[in-house]
Amino acid sequence: MVYGRYRLITQLLANQSLTKEHLHHKQQDDLRNIVRFAVQNTDYYRDRFCGFEEAELKNLPLLRKQDVTANLDALLVRTAKDHAKLGHTGGSTGCPLAFWYDDAKHALMRAGMTRSYMMSGWQPGQKIINFWGAARDIGAGGVFDDNPEASERTLPAQEFNETKLQEWAEFILAYQPVLLQGYASALTALADFIIDHHHRMPPTLLGIYSTAEMLDDHARERMKRAFGCHVFNQYGSREIPNIACECQHGNMHIFTDMVFLESLVLEDETRLIVTSLTNRLMPMIRYDIGDSGQLKEGDCRCGSPFPLMEVGLCRKNDFIRTTDGRRIHPSYFNRLLYGETRIKEYQWVQDTPDHLTLNIVPHGNWPPHLSVLLQDSIQRDLDMRLDVKPSNTIARTLSGKRRFVIGLPTL
Ligand SMILES: [Zn+2]
Repeated sequence: MVYGRYRLITQLLANQSLTKEHLHHKQQDDLRNIVRFAVQNTDYYRDRFCGFEEAELKNLPLLRKQDVTANLDALLVRTAKDHAKLGHTGGSTGCPLAFWYDDAKHALMRAGMTRSYMMSGWQPGQKIINFWGAARDIGAGGVFDDNPEASERTLPAQEFNETKLQEWAEFILAYQPVLLQGYASALTALADFIIDHHHRMPPTLLGIYSTAEMLDDHARERMKRAFGCHVFNQYGSREIPNIACECQHGNMHIFTDMVFLESLVLEDETRLIVTSLTNRLMPMIRYDIGDSGQLKEGDCRCGSPFPLMEVGLCRKNDFIRTTDGRRIHPSYFNRLLYGETRIKEYQWVQDTPDHLTLNIVPHGNWPPHLSVLLQDSIQRDLDMRLDVKPSNTIARTLSGKRRFVIGLPTL
């Protein structure tokens, strides 16, 4: 298995030496091949793509999350029924999803992550600490099958408090890793703790890989300051990993040897549509992943042939809808609290169409007049009522992810 992973990495690294044109042609071939494979080997695509010609790839129907849930067995390749295993996403968009995986898909996912890590200068075998929330992902068969030979350690990050943060800070200094990898919220909380308590970090650190949650500029700055190294934002999901990753120059490159990415305007929002070019177990073709973002023109100074993209700051359930039909982007809510140093953590929740709750974990005592100021802004801008609730902790999803803005559920 480990041997297989390194063979895969070699292949992936060779792809990043191809020219842009060569990569583009390879991607088009891979796309045609995966569509043909899916039609021939699954009941779902045989029926769903019936009547479409190869020239119409761009018109193929989208795969929505509800299609995946309703057709889980029909999406599985017929010959894989004896060895496929069922995995689950954390449901950060309010819609948990089951999907099939096997050892080959897992090995490729790890190889793709390894290539992303190498963008920081890290080399295979150098130390990594993962801060990961989903207990099911730690240990055999999970995302992180801790392998002491690979110098990798995984710390469960679904719940943490001051004691845990103190332990983590000490462990990082003692273990001297080259990379840290984990949820943006866990890494930000750790960064704040390290800055507040003047902890030293080891000079071995080359990069912080932030994943699975929105990474805003404020969080990025805190991490940079605390850990003293570059922060790399990764983009991917459990069902389609390794979609894109930032390079040293801060540009997000799409791994076009693994995915075909489109951006489409759906429901007034530019949404990302992803096709996995490698998944021959449960083909995911034109999958509406639920994230906003877009493709970008131009080249990057790093010289990578992989094209560029931008991830939006939100997932589709992170919008708040007002009673007069407006959809308010999460950045509005983040801006309201921008520069507010008395808040450690926050989360906006829409409880009813005309009511919001702002849960906050304050530094020390929360001055009531700040609640009044926020209530006035929300009333004026959105015509909604607001309750501000200071507490000691903010609930996370089952996998430990924190959401900044939670709208009323939609599908
Ligand atoms: Zn670049």
